Amino acid sequence: MIKVSNLHKKFGKLNVLKGINTNIEKGEIVVIIGPSGSGKSTFLRCLNMLEEPDQGEVIFQGIKLNDKKCNIDQQRQKMGMVFQQFNLFPHMTIVENIILAPTKLKKENEDEAKRKAVQLLKKVGLEDKADSYPNQLSGGQKQRIAIVRALAMSPEVMLFDEPTSALDPEMVGEVLEVMKGLAKDGMTMVVVTHEMGFAKEVATRVMFMDQGLIVEEGTPKDVFDNPQNPRIKEFLSKVL
Ligand code: ADP
Ligand code: MG
Repeated sequence: MIKVSNLHKKFGKLNVLKGINTNIEKGEIVVIIGPSGSGKSTFLRCLNMLEEPDQGEVIFQGIKLNDKKCNIDQQRQKMGMVFQQFNLFPHMTIVENIILAPTKLKKENEDEAKRKAVQLLKKVGLEDKADSYPNQLSGGQKQRIAIVRALAMSPEVMLFDEPTSALDPEMVGEVLEVMKGLAKDGMTMVVVTHEMGFAKEVATRVMFMDQGLIVEEGTPKDVFDNPQNPRIKEFLSKVL
């Protein structure tokens, strides 16, 4: 689904991505772990061109995204993204937040978009919040809404950048449950997280990034139980 070749990214003199190569297949749940500053977010943001790579290529469903001829807005609609911060519009109700992109970008009929929104809200157990405003919701609820908002565009892949890092501990579980449900439904997912339990349980592949490179990838069992790179052991001893 996504093919990444020789991806490089610098910010000024700071060399953040130093040649990333990987393929993400349909249905995979790829969990990216690694120390702070290793380039995880930059890598994720390069997958949908929120950051433009300096070198290399990202090919999504056969289309090279970092190409002048690529209509990136159109491609990006197929790539849902969920951030640490929920970024819901505070002056809009939950259902208005959810149907905004489908009605504006995809020109979906408003009633139809609302029907879909309610279905998705049911799935995450928040159908009673359709007419609430974001500030009436807890952090965990807001993040579940942010996931629903991304899903409302019927994406082919979901990118998550530390979706539970800003949450109070008691709300982490409810968001991870929604993500597990998505994985079970067959969604292709790329997830940056420090939740090692989630990685062990859900990932089809774990990628360890350090200093701008993927230094190891494999099944959760490979990476957690038998890491080849000593830096993984050091990292895991700090986060587990
Ligand atoms: P991670 O998500 O693994 O913590 P990031 O990809 O956020 O790492 O950041 C990698 C490095 O790039 C860090 O040193 C960070 O300060 C730097 N960086 C990230 N985004 C920018 C930016 N927009 N401008 C300048 N430096 C950045
Ligand atoms: Mg980050």
